[in-house]
Amino acid sequence: MPAEPKIGSAMKMVDVAEHAEIGRMFPAVAAAAIEVGTPQIRNAGTVGGNVNQRPRCWYFRQEEFNCYKKGGNRCFSPAGENQYHAIFGNEGPSHIVHPSSLAVPFVAYGATFRVAGANGERTVPAAEYFTMPTLQNVRKENVLADDEILTHVMLPAPGNVKTGHYEVRYKESHDWPLAFTTVVLTMNGNTISSARVVLGAVAPIPWRSKAAEAAALCRSV
Ligand SMILES: Cc1cc2nc3c(=O)[nH]c(=O)nc-3n(C[C@H](O)[C@H](O)[C@H](O)COP(=O)(O)OP(=O)(O)OC[C@H]3O[C@@H](n4cnc5c(N)ncnc54)[C@H](O)[C@@H]3O)c2cc1C
Ligand code: SF4
Repeated sequence: MPAEPKIGSAMKMVDVAEHAEIGRMFPAVAAAAIEVGTPQIRNAGTVGGNVNQRPRCWYFRQEEFNCYKKGGNRCFSPAGENQYHAIFGNEGPSHIVHPSSLAVPFVAYGATFRVAGANGERTVPAAEYFTMPTLQNVRKENVLADDEILTHVMLPAPGNVKTGHYEVRYKESHDWPLAFTTVVLTMNGNTISSARVVLGAVAPIPWRSKAAEAAALCRSV
């Protein structure tokens, strides 16, 4: 990979999963990609499509439920079938969990997203790309303007880090994970000098667990 490693948004997930340098430098990205859906989905789905996919909330996906995200005036999940909805950051008005498996390691590695639109290009830290729902922006999940697309994911050279990526599933199948995490520990010798612990499928955005990060700091591994 080049000095400033970057992944194009049109790259297929199968190619991310099988890319030798991504696997060597950013193993959690490769681990997340290989678990997405099925081989057919990974062969067709792109990085840009995965990161920007809309919520998988079943009320959102069924046309008879006109919820906030479709211009309605209510969320059906608090009094409905909500066992797969947010457990962190669940103040509403929407209680989705962010669906992207790749977004979590991108945030954990401190990636930057490059976006392009009619007014040119700009970069956004991955950690600031995804937005919590408010009544004003409830129909969107990120900072993209209507005329912008994600073009690249830029990953900082990892340095002396240890990483892990863990997914919990209801069963081994094509479905999204129930919960997952990417952990990136920056090492000073055998001591952890900084930690990023990002949780997926539990909040409307990839969710940094400051408590887990604090617990990891100053430990030896
Ligand atoms: C059975 C099943 C299981 C799945 N399991 C998982 C899973 O475990 N983990 C997971 O993460 N996903 C999972 N998915 C979702 C799947 O990964 C996404 O649907 C896929 O990544 C979409 O990729 P695509 O390139 O086809 O995007 P598209 O379907 O073409 O686009 C998806 C959305 O992203 C937008 N978009 C696409 N490219 C860009 C871009 N460059 N910039 C801005 N917006 C863009 C589109 O406008 C659209 O709104 C699953 C899907 C299915 C059907
Ligand atoms: S959680 Fe969000 S997408 Fe699902 S019903 Fe509520 S407002 Fe709609």
